[in-house]
Amino acid sequence: MNQIAVTLPDGSNRTVQPGASVQDVAAAISPGLARAALAGSVDGKLVDLSYPIEKDAAVKIITDRSPEALALCRHSTAHLMAAAVTHLFPGAQCGIGPATDEGFFYDFVVDRPFVPEDLDAIERKMRELAGDDLIYERQMWPREEAKAFFTKRGEPLKVQLIDEKTEGQSEVSCYTIKDKDTFIDFCVGPHVPSTGKLKAFKLLSTSNAYWKGDARNQPMQRIYGTAFLSDKELKAYLTQIEEAKKRDHRKLGKDLGLFTFHAWAPGATFWQDKGTTLYNTLANYMREVLLPNGYVEVKTPIIYNKALWETSGHWSHYRQNMFQVHGSEGEEMALKAMNCPGHYLLYASEAHSYRELPIRFHEQTPLHRNELAGVLSGLTRVRQFSQDDGHCFVMQDQIGDEVERLIRLVQRVYDDFGLPFAAKLGTRPPEFLGEIAAWDHAERQLKDALVRTDMAYTLNEGDGAFYGPKIDFDVTDAIGRKWQCATIQLDYQMPERFDLKYTGADNAEHRPVVIHRAIFGSFERFIAILIEHYAGAFPLWLAPVQAIVLPISDRHLDYAGSVRDRLEAAGLRAVLDERQEKIGYKIREAQLQKIPYMLVVGDRESSEGAVSVRERAGGDKGASSVDRFIEAAREEIAHKGKATVTT
Ligand SMILES: [Zn+2]
Ligand SMILES: [Zn+2]
Repeated sequence: MNQIAVTLPDGSNRTVQPGASVQDVAAAISPGLARAALAGSVDGKLVDLSYPIEKDAAVKIITDRSPEALALCRHSTAHLMAAAVTHLFPGAQCGIGPATDEGFFYDFVVDRPFVPEDLDAIERKMRELAGDDLIYERQMWPREEAKAFFTKRGEPLKVQLIDEKTEGQSEVSCYTIKDKDTFIDFCVGPHVPSTGKLKAFKLLSTSNAYWKGDARNQPMQRIYGTAFLSDKELKAYLTQIEEAKKRDHRKLGKDLGLFTFHAWAPGATFWQDKGTTLYNTLANYMREVLLPNGYVEVKTPIIYNKALWETSGHWSHYRQNMFQVHGSEGEEMALKAMNCPGHYLLYASEAHSYRELPIRFHEQTPLHRNELAGVLSGLTRVRQFSQDDGHCFVMQDQIGDEVERLIRLVQRVYDDFGLPFAAKLGTRPPEFLGEIAAWDHAERQLKDALVRTDMAYTLNEGDGAFYGPKIDFDVTDAIGRKWQCATIQLDYQMPERFDLKYTGADNAEHRPVVIHRAIFGSFERFIAILIEHYAGAFPLWLAPVQAIVLPISDRHLDYAGSVRDRLEAAGLRAVLDERQEKIGYKIREAQLQKIPYMLVVGDRESSEGAVSVRERAGGDKGASSVDRFIEAAREEIAHKGKATVTT
């Protein structure tokens, strides 16, 4: 029989028998690699180690050093968990068990909700199954036979999955974790070769879930867990989530009196006065950044006739995510889920000359997305939110300069919050709209702009939107979590759909390019990130209350009031604690409220026109004249997160 050639990542070739497995290839390279192998990649497709190679192919061995390994191990651990659950809860029905950015989950139909003791028992069973080093075996079943099997076993959800995911296939892949009771699951795979490869995992929590996340469907119980390739990474992650719990913006938002929610307005925030102050501080900050940089602030309608959404394409692709309403004449309308289409109408309401470009719109009005109630969570998944949303209308040859300007704004903003950040460039995907030459030109301009701004970036080939390339930015918070916030996205499609034009120097009409851009993303989500990043202890410029004046006794009230008034007159956000409480109690409360400065006034301060300054972390900074405190506070505010100025 003819040998076949496999090409390895270093470009070298090896010949093997047709039908040799990925494991065989690994073994032929070295025994060490054979031991470390978790899966393979054959012509770019992730496969099991047992996968037979039938023709010449590019083969890569996946080990715990490969970027693909983590998701592979997490998904395999989800299967291990499902096997443990079906062992311990006979009759439990399995839904789906994907890997996530944080770990994995699996949904089950069970008779009663899981309790914490269940998680302990399931995890123990998982360790037992992992200790037995059971093999994940892929079996190809005739499709109808597989459906009959899962029907008989009382797993209609699996039957539905097979129906949906394997239409037109004669065979479907099922995996067993081979042991005495043989757990079988329908899955396309791949998985690690055996359960012994899974060592660093932990079950974390349970929640209510619905089949396919839709509350109209079968209620299910979800178990969340996480898995890593080493114990060290698992431990670091568990420490991080402990820290994250303490910083949870939902808890701190309540403790600090920033915002609340009500069941009658799911996913829409009630901003209390302090939260509103924080929100407005950010909104005004963004204006201070953008308006001197060539942006104009606009306000466009919230509700539009469906004709707009048909023109933008959202009516056919996105309608279920929008709140639909009817006008008094029965018109079909929808609340805007993004500002872009409104900005196109605004742009097109006037004729434009090339001399006016770039035109830059900025808008902060509310947006609505009809998120499923089950996924709403604090400020991070909401139905009503606002963005620092902007659209720049530029000529082709202005793309580079505009993107450079945008990157510099992103750099400035994240520096002001002390948030480290990184850029990702997404280029032309396989399915794209427009001319390749225009894409190449745009991508070159984006790369050049990244270089000119000294912006390190990772290249995500093919990750651009179908309508244009993009640069996304991740920020890293104080406990090491990454959040995607800013985006700069080129769009060649919408100017076509909305017939946007400008008159060029040649007196002819041309199409502008649209750049969608946001730096915070949504205010709500960004505030959640900031609350957790600072653990509620906002830097002075953001703190809803910047200073609290604490009179030692009633006879200092008048003087304390005059101090508060002077601070307010100087533009500081100051309050007075007038309660007849002991000074120690007042200080502790102010510390719990994470107010940056406590100004204690007693006999000496009153007679000297001074205040005793305490920092929220407990530091006593001694006496200061009111004027000197104001001056120092103003300087600290001017420096934002970048430097702490000492008085
Ligand atoms: Zn699987
Ligand atoms: Zn947009």
